[in-house]
Amino acid sequence: MKMKLKPRHARIALLAVGCIIVLVIVWLNGSRFIPFGRAETDPSGSLKTVEKRLAKLKQAGGTPTLEQLAEAFQPLGLIDAHNHNASSSRYLSMLDAWEEYHIDKVVLFGNISEPSAIETDAAAWRAYQSSPDLFFPFFSGFDLHDEGSLDVIRDNLEKGYFGLGEIAGASTYSPIVSLADWKASDPMDGFLPEIYDLIAAYKAPILLHIDPPNGLPILKLEQALEAHPNTTFIFAHMNAYNSPEEIDRLLGMYPNLYADFFAGFSVYNPDGGGNPEIFIPIMKKYPDRFLLSSDSGYDLESEEQAIDAMYRILYLLDDPAVAKKIAHDNMMAIIQAQPATKTQLAAIQELASKNGKTYNYDKLSKLEAGKILAKDGKG
Ligand SMILES: [Zn+2]
Repeated sequence: MKMKLKPRHARIALLAVGCIIVLVIVWLNGSRFIPFGRAETDPSGSLKTVEKRLAKLKQAGGTPTLEQLAEAFQPLGLIDAHNHNASSSRYLSMLDAWEEYHIDKVVLFGNISEPSAIETDAAAWRAYQSSPDLFFPFFSGFDLHDEGSLDVIRDNLEKGYFGLGEIAGASTYSPIVSLADWKASDPMDGFLPEIYDLIAAYKAPILLHIDPPNGLPILKLEQALEAHPNTTFIFAHMNAYNSPEEIDRLLGMYPNLYADFFAGFSVYNPDGGGNPEIFIPIMKKYPDRFLLSSDSGYDLESEEQAIDAMYRILYLLDDPAVAKKIAHDNMMAIIQAQPATKTQLAAIQELASKNGKTYNYDKLSKLEAGKILAKDGKG
């Protein structure tokens, strides 16, 4: 017997089949839909999207706007690797801009190597507790000439901070850093050698401000890099008052050194020479060793201008795969390499006994542990 569908049933059946087809198409394409903050889920899809958007921009001709660049590079998930907004008024005022311009994550700290940094370190922590997907808190509130600094650093890294910074490793010319009470005279001064060994055990990096980027401070930095090969050093705004040749030399000699590229300095600060193109070949030579940063717009018109400059550098790279590493992957690799600490694991165990949840402790990273504690523990 033939089944005959009534017209109404036929329409419903057709609608159901249509829905299933749409769902399958969405599912197959799912990898291409990359929501805010999930850029790492599908690298090939995100790169293709960026390629297409860049091709469109080039076709349109002229100089792209910040909005256009932010839109084109959005799937890469740009990370600001050096940001000083660790006070509630400062980071709250930037939240809208970070969202609008698709800043995926921010390495957050405040003041540099002086007592007032203790409070900004705490503010960075509070910001991280309220937005653990947005911030990576660093700290610099310790006196590196005092042995007690080792306890402060151990405690903070145990608690869940991801790195030390910005630390005054040497400063003669910076109008702010040269006056910092706790600045080092050079990158081997005080307890810095012991600090390098301590943070290597946590796989935590140190973001070092060194000015001038030549002479004795650099000789001492090279001693530090050689004597502490398991410590990750990030040279803060390495492009400032420095040459591509010197950056090439240092990156070539020391695999434990990363370059924090303060894009705003080379793109918009007259002292930067107005020729950011000269750095592109070394970025392509060491695609795994560069990070991009805003330095919160230091000496620029605004922090937005510093963000604009970061996107200009990605545009100049003209290579989405390299851009992705420098924009996102390199910083994420430094963060994700850090294992959960004993203090974090003990806190998660305590949390589990209270909320009855089970957590997978196997090879938990500091990043994963920190998210559990911030989201479930509200601590
Ligand atoms: Zn800075």
